[in-house]
Amino acid sequence: MNKPNVLVVNDHPGSLLALKTMLQTSPCADEYEVVTASSGPDALRELLDRRFAAILLDVSMPGMDGFETAELIHSHPSCASVPIIFITAHYADELNRLKGFEHGAADYLISPVVPQILHAKIAVFIELEKKTLQLESQKKALAMFNENLQIQQMQDLRKVNAALQAEILERRQAERRACDLATKDALTGLINRRFLTEEIRHAIVRAARQGERIALLFLDMDKFKSINDTLGHDAGDELLIHVADRLRESVRESDYVARFGGDEFVVLMEGIHCYTDAADVARKIIDTVSAPVTLRSQRIRPSISVGISMYPDDSTSGQDLLRCADLAMYHAKENKHGGGVQFYHEELNARLSERRRLEYEMQNALENEEFELYYQPKVDGPSGHICGVEALLRWHHPRLGTLSGGQFMNVADETGQIVQIGEWVIYAACAQARLWLDADPAMHSLPIAVNIATPQIYADLPAVIDRALKLYRLPASCLQLEITESLMIDDVEKATSVLRQISKRGIKIAIDDFGSGYSSLSVLKALPIDVLKIDQSFVRDLGRGLGDNAIVTAVINMALAMSLRVVAEGVETDEQRTILHDLGCDEHQGFLYSVPLPVADLEELVMAAA
Ligand code: C2E
Ligand code: MG
Ligand code: MG
Repeated sequence: MNKPNVLVVNDHPGSLLALKTMLQTSPCADEYEVVTASSGPDALRELLDRRFAAILLDVSMPGMDGFETAELIHSHPSCASVPIIFITAHYADELNRLKGFEHGAADYLISPVVPQILHAKIAVFIELEKKTLQLESQKKALAMFNENLQIQQMQDLRKVNAALQAEILERRQAERRACDLATKDALTGLINRRFLTEEIRHAIVRAARQGERIALLFLDMDKFKSINDTLGHDAGDELLIHVADRLRESVRESDYVARFGGDEFVVLMEGIHCYTDAADVARKIIDTVSAPVTLRSQRIRPSISVGISMYPDDSTSGQDLLRCADLAMYHAKENKHGGGVQFYHEELNARLSERRRLEYEMQNALENEEFELYYQPKVDGPSGHICGVEALLRWHHPRLGTLSGGQFMNVADETGQIVQIGEWVIYAACAQARLWLDADPAMHSLPIAVNIATPQIYADLPAVIDRALKLYRLPASCLQLEITESLMIDDVEKATSVLRQISKRGIKIAIDDFGSGYSSLSVLKALPIDVLKIDQSFVRDLGRGLGDNAIVTAVINMALAMSLRVVAEGVETDEQRTILHDLGCDEHQGFLYSVPLPVADLEELVMAAA
């Protein structure tokens, strides 16, 4: 802080010096600086430069006297309150003193000034000035502090605001994500099952009000599992994304397309006039979906089956409509080549309950000894001799008569009973092989091929086979296995390892229904396969000029290259036999030679041929 200043104004140099000296010798002289001016205008100039704690002003000065100077000083706002002590050489009368006070005098001193009095008075003003300066500096500090505070507060406010904005944005994004998660399928971006169920409910309300129809299309991809299994889950996902895009393309903007789960989709259409409208859309979807796609460098033609239910015709409840469309889709699947369309009708319900009944009855079939193995011969191509048999399961159903594998194996598969039934088949086939070994020389050399369902592979198949062979004291050559291409379910490595263990025991393994799935050559090469059985669908069309000769030829050549035996299934005509013979097919099997037979009939057939 600067020292306070005291201004001494006097036109008489001697008085000026005397006053200055007096001030500089005061006991508190080191607390202030003394500045001098020899006239009124000089004093005013000094006042422009600095502030003063007090002014000792000579009253009588030539030109501008003390009073005039005082008036001018006090007229300036920055000096209005500076205390002025008038000094006069004369003994001041009352009137002069009054005049001094009128001109803003703080005090009055008479010359010759008594040093102690001057010291005492000046000390008061210095103290006052010091207080004022202190106050001002505190005020300034406070103002600065306030300003800093404001700046800080502003900055803090800005920070808080920015944080708030970020949080709002984050929360909005989180809300959107949560909404997407709640309403959309992560893989395809289609709406999910939950959201669809809601939309169906709303659509029903609208349709009821406007007296309109709604169509629900339930879609399920054909053979998706097999694509997933053979090409991998990533390829499966890629295919689902392709299909989702194609579905969106095939319908109107206002229709809803949902992924219902796995390879199932649902399309919800409002404002449908008649059944033909819905069927047209279904056909369009099937056509669009079936355009070829390349997955893992394999060209695939996806196909999809469609079941349709209509509001209000089939039901007025959303859940029921979905169930009806699902059921109809299930029946659309009966179209073996896929791509079927089926409207819901009451009869489907009856078929469903029949199926449920079958599932239930199957639980007791083993215990009630209702199963029997039939045997279908396989014939050696070049010689025409029977060279083996395939065991095919029959169910002597108390209510429905004898059912063949095609009529109930899928039920056993879907309910999981196939593992237990499959084990029974292995034991029954081994028991039969033992009987033939013991009693019938003509039957000695006929290995029995047993069909194996995929779940059996994962249920400790080698141990089951070992136990059966051991129980009936059989060489491994008596037994063969037939597995389908779709075997490569979740775990290719596990399946391969199980099959290797079995193969090591000397049991031959055949791939059944070859060509109906999506096996890749690399997978086939990794498996310990001995035989390829060409699917009946290719054999059926042999000689009809539909390109199947080429397929069968290719399969036979490939088998040759891989040192595998080839068996043609479903041989029914002489023409087929001739063609297969010419192509060099190793073995034939089919109704042309024999239908599957009960054991006694088979023995008779073999004896007659021997
Ligand atoms: P698969 O192993 O391909 O068996 C051949 C199917 O074609 C049999 O039907 C057989 O009766 C039929 N078939 C044979 N020759 C001809 C022919 O010339 N023309 C026609 N149209 N069909 C012919 P089936 O017995 O109904 O069996 C169907 C499927 O059920 C079998 O196909 C097999 O996958 C499965 N299966 C049958 N028995 C068993 C079994 O014991 N265990 C397992 N896991 N599956 C079995
Ligand atoms: Mg078979
Ligand atoms: Mg087959």
